[in-house]
Amino acid sequence: MGSAKHERMGALKECSVRVMDDSYEVKDVLKSIINDIGNGKILSCVKSSGNWIITLRNKDDADLLIETGIVINDSTCNVYGVSRSFLTVSLFGVPSYIDDDELSEKLLEFGCKLKGKWHHNTYPEFPNIENGIRYIRLELPTECKSLPYAMTLNGVHMRLKHNGQTRVCNLCLENDHIMRNCPKYVCRECNSQGHWEAKCPQVRCFKCNNLGHKSFNCPQAGDDNNDHHGNGDPATGRHISPPKHANVQHKDQPKDEAMDQLPQTKGSAIETNETKRSKTRIQRQLNG
Ligand SMILES: [Zn+2]
Ligand SMILES: [Zn+2]
Ligand SMILES: [Zn+2]
Repeated sequence: MGSAKHERMGALKECSVRVMDDSYEVKDVLKSIINDIGNGKILSCVKSSGNWIITLRNKDDADLLIETGIVINDSTCNVYGVSRSFLTVSLFGVPSYIDDDELSEKLLEFGCKLKGKWHHNTYPEFPNIENGIRYIRLELPTECKSLPYAMTLNGVHMRLKHNGQTRVCNLCLENDHIMRNCPKYVCRECNSQGHWEAKCPQVRCFKCNNLGHKSFNCPQAGDDNNDHHGNGDPATGRHISPPKHANVQHKDQPKDEAMDQLPQTKGSAIETNETKRSKTRIQRQLNG
């Protein structure tokens, strides 16, 4: 369906996919793809800065590989589009009084292009009651690799997950700094940009009466204050200890472990490649 049309419209870039190279040999990559989509459909397979770039004759085959991943030497590998970055983004901890439109607005502010509607997950035992997980398909803004791990909307703090996520600034989505160092960050003490509250030149320490730091960061305070360093809420100066069993994301954590930490709710937006593959296989058998 529509494959001839796609071929006419689409540049070959649209028909190209990317597999992260895990020291695979070209024959293993090609065998795996031919096994999935058949012979005579690959135009090129090129190694380029840590990736295999595979250009196919038609976009539907590229879409299929992106959707299902491929199996190389018995391990499943993610396949990414070269020119597109469609993702399923899941939000966790969204009470039903938060409107879909409010969520959309927030993602549009980031520059995302939304595809389709929000899906609301429910508890398997209580199919009419939402469990706070919503997901949507979207395209990330160009030059943007990831959305932040969390966002706050109307005082509700929600976690945000998608495949291939990395740590980025919550404000501008750049990956070379965190929000408190963002040039766009507006200090709540003096309303100017370029520093956060704890580094505000206008703030006065009540311990030493000097400008430029808060009392919990005071260099003249005793040792009892040292454990507060860097662990305070910039807004209140209050000490925050990480909650027990917090679902903390580490930058260098392997992707699979990160996925294991997701709540295993039936009907969750995140499917493993294995389930997607078997679904697609069944579908193909039915069609054939
Ligand atoms: Zn920033
Ligand atoms: Zn300031
Ligand atoms: Zn001080």
